[in-house]
Amino acid sequence: MALSDKDRIFQNLYGFQPWNLSAARKRGCWDGTGAILAKGRDAIIEEMKNSGLRGRGGAGFPTGMKWSFMPKQSDGRPSYLVVNADESEPGTCKDRDIIRHDPQTLIEGCLIAGFAMGAIAGYIYIRGEYYNESVVLEAAIQEAYDAGLLGKNACGSGYDFDLYVHRGAGAYICGEETALIESLEGKKGMPRLKPPFPAAVGLYGCPTTVNNVETIAVVPEIMRRGAEWFSSFGRPKNSGTKIFCIQGHVNNPCNVEAEMSIPMRELIERYAGGVRGGWDNLLCVIPGGSSTPLLPKHICDDVLMDFDALREHRSGLGTAGVIVMDKSTDVIKAIARLSAFYKHESCGQCTPCREGMGWVKRMMDRMVTGNAEIEEIDVLENVTRRIEGHTICALADGGVWPVQGLIRHYRPLMEERIQAYKARHQRLAAE
Ligand code: NAD
Repeated sequence: MALSDKDRIFQNLYGFQPWNLSAARKRGCWDGTGAILAKGRDAIIEEMKNSGLRGRGGAGFPTGMKWSFMPKQSDGRPSYLVVNADESEPGTCKDRDIIRHDPQTLIEGCLIAGFAMGAIAGYIYIRGEYYNESVVLEAAIQEAYDAGLLGKNACGSGYDFDLYVHRGAGAYICGEETALIESLEGKKGMPRLKPPFPAAVGLYGCPTTVNNVETIAVVPEIMRRGAEWFSSFGRPKNSGTKIFCIQGHVNNPCNVEAEMSIPMRELIERYAGGVRGGWDNLLCVIPGGSSTPLLPKHICDDVLMDFDALREHRSGLGTAGVIVMDKSTDVIKAIARLSAFYKHESCGQCTPCREGMGWVKRMMDRMVTGNAEIEEIDVLENVTRRIEGHTICALADGGVWPVQGLIRHYRPLMEERIQAYKARHQRLAAE
């Protein structure tokens, strides 16, 4: 079902109206929040399960199920909600706009989520580069406290809930939930082995749920309009609305909230004004973050923008940072740039990532110029397979998937470049 303006959860995504509390209330925020809490923890979790909401931070884990892992009875340890606002996935800037222009959606979501999981407090971990957004967020939280929506007896519910903002220091790895927890505890941000998952042992060793900003910010509207309404968008197991960040070689780069499972071609055409120079000029699209690039033939097949459809194409929705590249792009160079990013952001804890991503980056640099042997393409592919799945967290997987996709789709181009380099050097040597 296509989305109309009234179906959009984020009514101020573009900041046409003020972000403050009174403007947010006019848009429907904090409407009946006390009544939502009065439904009780189990009812809220059940509603979230029925809505089909899957985590919007990239992994797509079912939200209601994740909340249900939190202990029902306290064993003496407090429980915490942690919101991951360390948005750093290449091409992703959706959480930034939620915080900038619609922070009360997130704050109200924190209260409802915190209540449902029995948390005594919530921490919003925001990336250091989002300084202006952190200022807005702090001010918005203060407004909510002043209005009695947070703190003791929040919303008159009898439930006490405090909310804090913590600024990161610009490390991509701190977006990984356990590295984020380490960082929040004041340590170097390095991922922990899972299990135990944070619901069992999280912040300060206590039960914790880490959710993405967008995931939490859609909760109040799901509770107000109902699980059935939310799940009427998209398709089963991939339901709801989603903010897509469409960028690169399109006529109108934008963030847009659209229905899940929208065909990729329709998404780009309807909201981003199509590909620069027309569809014939399209080279490829990376559908989410830094997943595998998809070729025009896949897009013409009307690939759907959701978790499961993109996985079938051996790519991924991730955070839905859609990167469109036209034929002016040097795709080998573009993927090499991603390799450099992941090499730079590796925390260095696992050898396959620390050593492997540096090796992949150097090899990709050679593939860009063509200063390599054709057989080395196989060596590169082989090494990426040895890195994938052999590390504590998914950073290195994210780093090697685009390289694997490049080899799968653009091997002839890579070979051509190597041959051209050799021919050029033979010519120079002969002169
Ligand atoms: P994951 O699949 O390991 O976990 C997803 C979530 O589900 C986690 O909260 C985890 O605790 C929970 N979970 C998974 N299995 C569980 C189980 N058996 N029991 C209890 N809880 C369980 O993925 P991940 O490593 O957390 O995230 C990887 C994703 O992060 C990638 O897809 C990538 O797109 C995304 N990412 C996003 C950003 C960003 O800027 N938002 C940055 C980097 C990566």
